[in-house]
Amino acid sequence: MSILNADLHCHSVVSDGTLEPEVLAARAAANGVELWALTDHDEIGGQHRAAQAARAHGMRYLTGTEISVTFAGETVHIVGLGFDPDDPQMLRGLEETRGGRGNRARDIAAGLAQAGIPNAYEGALKYVGNPALISRTHFARYLVEAGVCKDTSEVFRRYLTEGKPGYVPHHWASLKHAVTWITQAGGAAVIAHPARYKLTANEEYALFTEFKAHGGRGVEVVTGSHTAAEYVKYADTAREFGLAASRGSDFHSPDESHTDLGLLPHLPGGLTPVWELLADRIR
Ligand code: AMP
Ligand code: MN
Ligand code: MN
Ligand code: MN
Repeated sequence: MSILNADLHCHSVVSDGTLEPEVLAARAAANGVELWALTDHDEIGGQHRAAQAARAHGMRYLTGTEISVTFAGETVHIVGLGFDPDDPQMLRGLEETRGGRGNRARDIAAGLAQAGIPNAYEGALKYVGNPALISRTHFARYLVEAGVCKDTSEVFRRYLTEGKPGYVPHHWASLKHAVTWITQAGGAAVIAHPARYKLTANEEYALFTEFKAHGGRGVEVVTGSHTAAEYVKYADTAREFGLAASRGSDFHSPDESHTDLGLLPHLPGGLTPVWELLADRIR
C-alpha cells in the first residue's frame, strides 16, 4: 500500500490546468498512476468526471481540492482529500473562497493596463475553462500569447508576484475554516508544497502547529516543486508533527509543468502515507 503510485495533486480546466479531467485521467493511467486525485483550486466541479474516468482506466480515486488560505499574510494552499463532494458546508466554503476572484481579476487587469498591457482581462478570459475560477495562471498564459514574456514563469516573476504591477493582495479562507470544511466532510486536510511559502521559521512552525490543532492530518513531502533536500526536510517535519505524508505532481499542463503525473520518487521510508488514513474513502 505504501509504495503505491499515488498522485494526489493536479489541476484540470475546471481551475488553472489546460487538460480536461478525462484527458488527465488517461495521462495519469498511462504513466502508471494507481491512486489518483484531481485537486482543482477552490472548486470541485470536476470531481464526478474525474472519478468516472479513473474507474474507466482501472485507477482508484480520492476526491480532491486545493483551498486557497491566507496565513501570516501569505497565501498557503491546503489540499483536501477523500471528503464527501456533496457536503453542504464544504460546497458553501469553496463558493465563498472563489467569490472574490472576479473583482480581483479586474484589479489585476487594471494594474497591467497601467504597466502598458491593455485588455488583459479579456485576454485572460480566453484561457478560462470555468468562469467562476479566473486565476493568475490565465493572465500568465495571455501575456505569453501577447509576446510580453517568453513563458509563464517570467510573467509571474515580472508581473504577478508581490510588488509587481499585476499583483493584487487578496484575502482567502482562514486556515481554520479550510481544515474544518475538509475534515467535517469526512476528508483529510494536507498542507500543500510547504517549501514554496515565504514564511519565517517561526511562522512555518506556527502554520504546522495551528494546522494540527485544527485537525489537519497530512503534509506533501514529495511534490513537483520540492527538491530532494526538501523531501528529507518535510519528511522530518511530518514525523515531528505526527502528520501523514502525501505525494503529488501538481501537474497543470504538458507545456508548463516540469513534473508529469505519477512521475515522482516514492515517499521516503518511515512515514505514514496519507492514503492509509483514507482507506475507506478510496473509490
Ligand atoms: P491564483 O490562485 O490566482 O493566485 O494563482 C495561483 C496559481 O498560479 C498557482 O496555483 C500556480 O498554478 C500558479 N503560479 C504561482 N506562482 C507561479 C510561478 N512562479 N510560476 C508559474 N506559475 C505560478
Ligand atoms: Mn495552479
Ligand atoms: Mn498550490
Ligand atoms: Mn496545485
